[in-house]
Amino acid sequence: DRLVGAEVDGEEQAIEAALRPKDLGEFVGQERVREQLDLVLRAARQRGGTADHVLLSGAPGLGKTTLSLIIAAEMAAPIRITSGPAIQHAGDLAAILSSLAEGEVLFLDEIHRMSRPAEEMLYMAMEDFRVDVIVGKGPGATAIPLELPPFTLVGATTRAGLLPPPLRDRFGFTGHMEFYAASELERVIHRSARLLDVEIEAPGATEIAGRSRGTPRIANRLLRRVRDYAQVKADGVITKDIASRALAVYDVDARGLDRLDRAVLTALLKLFGGGPVGLSTLAVAVGEERETVEEVAEPFLVREGLLARTPRGRVGTPAAWAHLGLTPPQGQRS
Ligand code: ATP
Repeated sequence: DRLVGAEVDGEEQAIEAALRPKDLGEFVGQERVREQLDLVLRAARQRGGTADHVLLSGAPGLGKTTLSLIIAAEMAAPIRITSGPAIQHAGDLAAILSSLAEGEVLFLDEIHRMSRPAEEMLYMAMEDFRVDVIVGKGPGATAIPLELPPFTLVGATTRAGLLPPPLRDRFGFTGHMEFYAASELERVIHRSARLLDVEIEAPGATEIAGRSRGTPRIANRLLRRVRDYAQVKADGVITKDIASRALAVYDVDARGLDRLDRAVLTALLKLFGGGPVGLSTLAVAVGEERETVEEVAEPFLVREGLLARTPRGRVGTPAAWAHLGLTPPQGQRS
C-alpha cells in the first residue's frame, strides 16, 4: 500500500489495464528489447509460425505483463495469463498446456516460483511441444505422452539469475528490462494523462517523472494522485507547482523517497553519524521490522547511491547527506 511501491493490488489492475500500450509502437522506452522483439515477431509472422519462447526479466512495474499482451496482439494470437505460484503441481501445468490453442501465448509471471515437478514438465513442453502425463503411482505408474500444439511461452521473472540454467536455455529470446529514464517516464505520463483526459503542462510531467523511481507503474500512480489534487485544490490542470505540492502532501520527495525511506536515511545519518551501523539497530531506530528496512526501503536507497551495504554495516553516502541537507561530521566529507 505504499504510493511508491512497485507492487500492484487488485483494484489498481483495472486502471492499469486501461493505460497499457497496445502495440510495440506505443510502448515507451526499452529500445533494445523492443527492437529485438520486433525482429523476433516479424520473422515469426513471415514464416507463418509461432514465435520463439520469450523470457522477460526486470523489476516489478517495468512492463513485462504489458509486453506479453503486446506479443500476443502482434501475433494476432490469444493469450493465457498465469503465474508460477499458481502452478504448484505438474498436473496444474498439464491442464493449462493441454488446453492451449495453436499459436497461443502463455504468460507465466514469476516463473522462478514454480514447483520443481512443474518446471521439469515445462522443459519438455517448451522443447518438444509434448508432455508426459503420469497416471497411477509406484511401480504401476505409466507415462502417457500428450502432444501439444505449438505455443509461445512468455516467462517473466524479477531476476533471470534465479532461473535454473536448463529452463533459461530453453528460451529463444531473453529481454532484460531496465529502469526508465526520466525523459521516458515523461512520455508515459503525457500518454496516460491523455487517456485519463487530464490536462498536464510539460514541467508538471517532469516533476512527476523525477519522483517515479524509474518505474512506469509508479509514474501512472503518482499521476492519478496529482490529478486528484489538481481537481480538488485547483482548476484541474497539472502544473509543476501543483505536482510538487500534491506529492508533498503524499510524502513523496523530489527524488521519489517516501516517509519510510527518509526515516531510514535520517536515522542512519543523524543518530549514527552516517554509519556503519547494523541492520537490526537501524530497524529498531526507525521502529520497523528488519525485513521491512532491508527489503522495502533499502533496495531503492542502494540503487540511488544513498546507502551502501558494507560488511561492517549500513553506511550513508555523501549523496545522502546532500539529499537531506545535512552536513557530514568532520573527516567524512567527500
Ligand atoms: P509486475 O512484474 O509487477 O507484474 P510488470 O513488469 O508486468 O509488473 P506492467 O503491469 O506491464 O508491469 O506495467 C505496469 C503499468 O505500467 C501498466 O499500467 C502499463 O500501462 C505501464 N507501463 C509499463 N511499461 C510501459 C511502457 N513502456 N510504456 C507505457 N506504459 C507502460
